[in-house]
Parts: sequence; structure tokens; C-alpha cells
Amino acid sequence: MTEPALPIPEGSDPRASVRHRVFVLGAGIMGSGIAAQCALAGYPVTLADVNEELARRGLANATRALDRAVERGSAAAGDRDAAIPRIDVGLGIRHADGADVVIEAAPEDLALKRRIFSELESVASPHALLASNTSSLPITSIAQDLQDPGRLVGIHFFNPVLQMALVELIPGLTTRPEVVEAARAFATSLGKTVVASKDSPGFVTTRALAVLVNEAAWMLYEGVATRDDIDAAYRLGFHHPMGPFELLDLVGIDTALAILDVMWDGYRDSRYRACPLLRTMVSAKKLGRKTGEGFYRYPLPGGGT
Ligand code: NAD
Repeated sequence: MTEPALPIPEGSDPRASVRHRVFVLGAGIMGSGIAAQCALAGYPVTLADVNEELARRGLANATRALDRAVERGSAAAGDRDAAIPRIDVGLGIRHADGADVVIEAAPEDLALKRRIFSELESVASPHALLASNTSSLPITSIAQDLQDPGRLVGIHFFNPVLQMALVELIPGLTTRPEVVEAARAFATSLGKTVVASKDSPGFVTTRALAVLVNEAAWMLYEGVATRDDIDAAYRLGFHHPMGPFELLDLVGIDTALAILDVMWDGYRDSRYRACPLLRTMVSAKKLGRKTGEGFYRYPLPGGGT
């Protein structure tokens, strides 16, 4: 028996209405932030990864993100205290079965995402909204192996999720209009501003950003300027809140490289030819904040550097 379908009424306060359950798969940088954001908006959330330890680490990071939101004054302490117990840890895809909204935030790898959604389709209830947080991969390609590709949509959050007001909404060529509207209503209920993009590699935002950060990497690689001077030039010259190397470290250099490779595959345009320096850093596992070192060094949560 199919349960009542989304859409979530636009502008509704989920705290005062039906509790749609959210399942987030991939508890890394984005999954933990998305879980925190959904919990803050009143949704019960299950956060899952390939094993329990990674899911628990994601939960700890979601809690830290909520703490920081209180410190910044963007969330009330009472809302944070109510949000934290709304997030629980799931042991893999099978825990998607009770969810109304499923958000995939696994690595930027087309084959992996296709596999994940084929499994999710067999587990998630038929009414559930299926969304990918991909930064660049075509939604239509991610959906192509599904029995019902019409239920998959792109909901692209920004990093750090609790601080960034934007969500990019990407219907695939096969996505049904009511699924797009449900996704829009869901993102709006999180307090986000939604912009729509056609299903084109990198959409709007990643297409612009990929060029900007790749160009910085090429300048460093060619010795045009130092890391610190390039970061300062972008920050002070363009009023960017952070320099390109600070941003690459925040995004994850593996993710940035995967994105550039998707753009290259999609357009075969030399604008998206990834700087070899990024590939070398990924080989050296210098991925940025998440591994404690990228273009800069960072203290890791729980000590060590
Ligand atoms: P991440 O490396 O921080 O996290 C990915 C997580 O997925 C890891 O915890 C990993 O263990 C897990 N994972 C790997 N295989 C899995 C599987 N089969 N099932 C479930 N989980 C699995 O990556 P991220 O930065 O959070 O990126 C996730 C997605 O979000 C990517 O598609 C990326 O392009 C997109 N995105 C990233 C950013 C960013 O700034 N990092 C911004 C917007 C969108």
C-alpha cells in the first residue's frame, strides 16, 4: 500500500506538520551537513555510510556543525538541542525503507551513484523522493538504470550546508514534474533559496567554480605566484570569502578533481583540463581538511594533525 505522496506543502513549517523522514546516504562533508540542516528544520534523519564507524563520525560532524551554528548566532541553542536527537545512524542502504526523502551524498563517481540508486530503488518505499547531491554528474545518467528514472532529481547543496543559502535543483530529462516540485518544496522547507539548472555537466555553479579553482592550481603549478598570494588575490581582489586553495581544501581535492574530470568528459573543452598538481595531491592523499592536509595543514577532530 503506497503512503501519501510528497510534495511537502511549500512554505510549511515541518516542525508543525507531518514529520517526513529523511535518509542521507554518505556521511562525509556533505552528508553530515545535510543531516544537520534537515534535523534543524524539524525532520527526523537517518545518516548512513558504508559502515557504522563512518556514519557515527558523520553524526559527530553534524553535531559540531550545529554547535558552530549556535556560536555564530544563526541557530538558537534550544533548536540545536532539539535537532541533535532527531539524527540517528543507519547501518547501510537497507535503512532507507522508512524514508520519505532519500538524499545520496556518496563520492562523485557515476558508476557508484548508479549502483547506489539501483539498490535504493529496491529498498525505498515507492512514494519516496530520490535525490542526488552530485555537484556535476548528469542526473539523467545517474537515473538511467532505474526501473522508474522519473523519480530521481538533483538537489545540490553547498558547503558548509548550514551556512550556505543556495540549493541548485536539477531535473533530469526523465524526471517527472511532480518530483521536481516536491524537491523544490523540500529544499524551501529547509530555508534554502532554490535555483534551477538544466541537466548539463556542472550545472551552473560547479561549471563556474571548476574553472576558477583549476586556474588557480595551474598558476601555482606554473610558478606564476605563491599559494598565499593567489589566495590573497582572489580574496582581496574579488571579495571572495576565501581563496581558491582554502576552498579546494574545504571542498576536498579528490572531489574537485572528480568534478573537473566529469566536466572534461562532458564537454571535451580544455577549460576543464584538470591541473596535474590536483592529481598528484590526490595520489598523495592530501585531500584537504578531511585528511588534515591539502594545500594547508589542519588539526584533525579528536587531536593529531
Ligand atoms: P566525502 O568524501 O566527504 O564523503 C563521501 C562519503 O560517502 C564518505 O563518508 C564515504 O565513506 C561514503 N561512501 C563511499 N561509498 C559509499 C557507498 N557505497 N554508500 C554509502 N556511502 C559511501 O564527499 P563529499 O564532499 O561529502 O561529497 C559527496 C557528494 O556531494 C559528491 O557527489 C560531491 O560532488 C557532492 N558535493 C560536494 C561538495 C563539497 O564541497 N565537498 C559540495 C556540493 C556537493
